[in-house]
Amino acid sequence: MIIVAHGGVGSRKALADGPLKAAKKSGAVLKNGGSALDAAVAGVMALEDDPRFNAGTGSVLRFDGTVQMDAAVMDSENNYGAVACIQRVKNPVLVARKVMDSPHRLICGDGATQFARVQNFPPYNPITPKAIANLKRVKSRIAAGKIPGWIKRFRKEPWRSMVGCDTVGMVVSDGKGNFAAAGSTGGTSYMLPGRIGDTPLIGCGIYAGKKGAVVATGVGEEIIKRMLSKEVYEKINRGLSPQQACEWGLTLFERTVPIGVIAVTLNNYGIAASHQMASAILKK
Ligand code: ASP
Repeated sequence: MIIVAHGGVGSRKALADGPLKAAKKSGAVLKNGGSALDAAVAGVMALEDDPRFNAGTGSVLRFDGTVQMDAAVMDSENNYGAVACIQRVKNPVLVARKVMDSPHRLICGDGATQFARVQNFPPYNPITPKAIANLKRVKSRIAAGKIPGWIKRFRKEPWRSMVGCDTVGMVVSDGKGNFAAAGSTGGTSYMLPGRIGDTPLIGCGIYAGKKGAVVATGVGEEIIKRMLSKEVYEKINRGLSPQQACEWGLTLFERTVPIGVIAVTLNNYGIAASHQMASAILKK
């Protein structure tokens, strides 16, 4: 089996114990007979519950002070489920997993939150003091004229100061030809309510197929335009190693844009990031 977990591009390497713990949880699920999908979900849940990362508890706030989270799961049997802008749940990835079993593939906003309630996910407040402080900092930057117009100046400012990333994700190969991917995020630091990033969009933040699984992190707006996860998967499909494919994926973006990609195949894995990224590998 091979499991790779990341704590989001931009996350300090010193936080790698988070992805490592998640990868071990995921590995334990596989060891106990769980599927690659079960393992990916369990690992991402562990990262959602770690308030140091921007997913589940600890998610960044939108400009209006709300937390709206995106999550997705996919496996190599072409099963996919996702939620976008879901609020007041502890583990969006678990709700995405439920969507996979529903007649729909992606549910967003109030509908996603209502779906979670019907599925017995109790109301939960994922807001942390750190997230509140982050929004204050973002707003004071805007007030000070450092970022006067969100979209107007977006491309002119150095990306790193504009975007707080720390999304979490995981790719799993069970060693028997089954693959799964899962991702979860609170989004980026500069975000309007209702904005949906790459994480819940098939082929953008997540993809899995018969040859492997891929998860992306970074500026969702840029990842979506390039359908990064599917493009990286196709490179693997055509014979590139997962490491070569992930590195190729980064070349699609300007160097300053924070982007990270992880991938697994039957016997191999790849990790590439334009900026620092806490990650972990479990290979047995
Ligand atoms: N890709 C995520 C988003 O744009 C953010 C991240 O990966 O940190 O919502």
